[in-house]
Amino acid sequence: MSMRYVIIGGGIAGTTAAEELRKLDPSSEITIVSEEQHPIYSRVLLPHYIKGKIPRERVFLKKENWYSEQNIDWMPGVLAVYLDTKNKFVTLSNGREIEYDKMLIATGGEPRTIFENSRNISYLRSLSDADNFLELLNSRENNCNGEVFGGGFIACEYINLFAHFSIPTRVSLRGDFFWSKILDREPAEFVNQYLGKNGITLRKNVSFKDSFIEEELKNKSSIFGIGIGIETDFSWLKESGVEISSGIRANEFLETNIPDVYTAGDVAEFYDVIVGRHLKMGNWMSAMSQGRVVAQNMFGNKIVFELVSSYATNILGLEVIFIGDVSKESADEVRIIGSIEEGGITQLFGRKGQLVGAVLLNRNSDRQIITDFIKNKGLLPDKNRELLPELVEGSKKRE
Ligand SMILES: Cc1cc2nc3c(=O)[nH]c(=O)nc-3n(C[C@H](O)[C@H](O)[C@H](O)COP(=O)(O)OP(=O)(O)OC[C@H]3O[C@@H](n4cnc5c(N)ncnc54)[C@H](O)[C@@H]3O)c2cc1C
Repeated sequence: MSMRYVIIGGGIAGTTAAEELRKLDPSSEITIVSEEQHPIYSRVLLPHYIKGKIPRERVFLKKENWYSEQNIDWMPGVLAVYLDTKNKFVTLSNGREIEYDKMLIATGGEPRTIFENSRNISYLRSLSDADNFLELLNSRENNCNGEVFGGGFIACEYINLFAHFSIPTRVSLRGDFFWSKILDREPAEFVNQYLGKNGITLRKNVSFKDSFIEEELKNKSSIFGIGIGIETDFSWLKESGVEISSGIRANEFLETNIPDVYTAGDVAEFYDVIVGRHLKMGNWMSAMSQGRVVAQNMFGNKIVFELVSSYATNILGLEVIFIGDVSKESADEVRIIGSIEEGGITQLFGRKGQLVGAVLLNRNSDRQIITDFIKNKGLLPDKNRELLPELVEGSKKRE
């Protein structure tokens, strides 16, 4: 009998896994259950589409007929609502129950929301969010302002988008800085100063649930871009026995604690063998390669997921790259190379002497060296000695 693979979530992790499984196991049954109505598209390209740099059809990575050509049973607009791991079936929002031999949970995340009832609010995760934002832009008044809430990558996308449309922008932060759980004082200050110099007004220590903000949302001449993180609905897994922490817990093979149930992508809290702890990685590179590796493991090979992934962006000309594990809380050492005066800063994260992650601000040339160093489990040198000489050299050249 042919193997039945069921994949919940048709984003880049789930779709890559399906594509890979089809190559590995031509006669198997593959199903993708996808809340989205559309074929797989690139979230990374959504800002380009909004800016009009690419037409809408260019965001799609596959056409609708790709699924049937690959003999993949694609179920768009359908949610998984209940998982029974003892009897190995999943119940869907259309009332169907489907049995599986191997199950992949690749459900990503949804934007965290505030005050959903306001019409001039925008979130930015899906293609329909992008369409909605375009509608808001097209119907805006002449004196329109951009109000961004949040201090992460999506907030940065909004800053760029408002700038592109010449809309004056104010950013409200929960604390004092962008990426407050990641950046040390000087790099954080660098970002704030850079944005200030580029015309962005920053408002600090704002409680997003304050009623005065609710009042502000009634201001129809503003568009509110909300980028306060993502969250995942785990309610359908409540009785499944699948272990959940901040994401779905998995080992280095992307196997959950339940046999034949796997996870990949933004939702996975996997054991990272390079940095030696469980973590979640919210980037495209990681989601895609987890899709590839998990397919191998679902097929029966035993492959360790091992990747130093990164997320690179540019905010009004400031180049920002996150590499590897950038949690300040789980690092036991943070070091800074460069400075505000030099116009570029690299922040390194160390744990148990090992370099595990880095944030690069206007120091793109450090990217490869650091990625290789983390991959090779390089140790941070003694504080008295030169720290990664190549990086310090790079910084001297810049002076
Ligand atoms: C605007 C934007 C720009 C970005 N830019 C970059 C970038 O420049 N570089 C970078 O590295 N990363 C970027 N990212 C992040 C990157 O897109 C994500 O890390 C990646 O798309 C995650 O893929 P995924 O397959 O894990 O999850 P998702 O893409 O979230 O896919 C999961 C799918 O599962 C569906 N789903 C959820 N629950 C269920 C259920 N119960 N039943 C059925 N289906 C369900 C969801 O609707 C979703 O379609 C960006 C993200 C956004 C939103």
